[in-house]
Amino acid sequence: MNSVERKRLNRVLEVNDEHPKQQVGAVPDIDDFRYVKTEAKTAVSTKRVPASSNKNSSPVRLEKKIRVSSVVKVEVAAPENWEAVLEGIKNIRLSGQAPVDTKGCEKAGSLLPPKERRFAVLISTMMSSQTKDEVTHAAVECLGENGLLDPDAIVRTDEATLANLIKPVGFYQRKAQFIKEASRICLERFGGDIPDTLTDLLALKGVGPKMAHLVMSIAWKNTQGICVDTHVHRISNRLGWVFREGTKQKTTTPEQTRMSLEKWLPKDEWEPINPLLVGFGQTICTPLRPKCGSCGINTICPSAFKEASSPNPKQKKRGLGPT
Ligand code: SF4
Repeated sequence: MNSVERKRLNRVLEVNDEHPKQQVGAVPDIDDFRYVKTEAKTAVSTKRVPASSNKNSSPVRLEKKIRVSSVVKVEVAAPENWEAVLEGIKNIRLSGQAPVDTKGCEKAGSLLPPKERRFAVLISTMMSSQTKDEVTHAAVECLGENGLLDPDAIVRTDEATLANLIKPVGFYQRKAQFIKEASRICLERFGGDIPDTLTDLLALKGVGPKMAHLVMSIAWKNTQGICVDTHVHRISNRLGWVFREGTKQKTTTPEQTRMSLEKWLPKDEWEPINPLLVGFGQTICTPLRPKCGSCGINTICPSAFKEASSPNPKQKKRGLGPT
């Protein structure tokens, strides 16, 4: 094993998977941002660690439960055709814009100085769950217009006012509470900047692994894992790219998807895979009725025409539509 592979194996952030009811394609619930913390292991073995080895560890319950552990992973073979599939998706994405391209979290505060921009990215990401990109983007703009893309200003603003300003955002009241709390922590512990580690980001209420990885990538340019949202989760399963540990079954949570993807996807694809698949999911491989008829990879996608899709009329005529 070379040093790059070993480095990659040694840095695995595992967050407890405890969402058995979550279905493929479902949007994670804001109440699911709870984790269990166990002692981080500093010694790293090159031997495989059995999945059962963590079962007896006693979780330490904190205000927000986090489990962070170093686990040695074994490289798995990349799925057949993955490069052709990825190339095909990139070509499809070049042919049209998706909401994420102009209104995604990575666009938040793009004209601001670095520190202010990082804060805007954190706030935008915290508002983004169960909310369309356009709505999140408008809420960030509204906060900016009111001088509230600043932790000190947010701490001095009452929660009800903050909630009203971001109101179209899903769970706006709860998110206003989380944003105020995060702003206070940014001021008290990070000199008004945002946390620069996954662990510290995950310790913020309302920040889950998807958000923490996104913030690390966008705000700090330090990609430590793949940001798997509902689009990346759904499409990775449709493409047959991910499996539950030790099985050939689909993953059931974004965290399982992240861990499965990271086993084989080259690291230089970890950051771009999120906006690539999010935009693809917003326009072509949609949650309901994916547009397989007009999808450029429908000859190599294992899920083509298997879900109720909206074929284009020409293909349906030629008998290429769903049966
Ligand atoms: S063929 Fe259909 S299911 Fe497969 S990636 Fe394209 S739109 Fe999605």
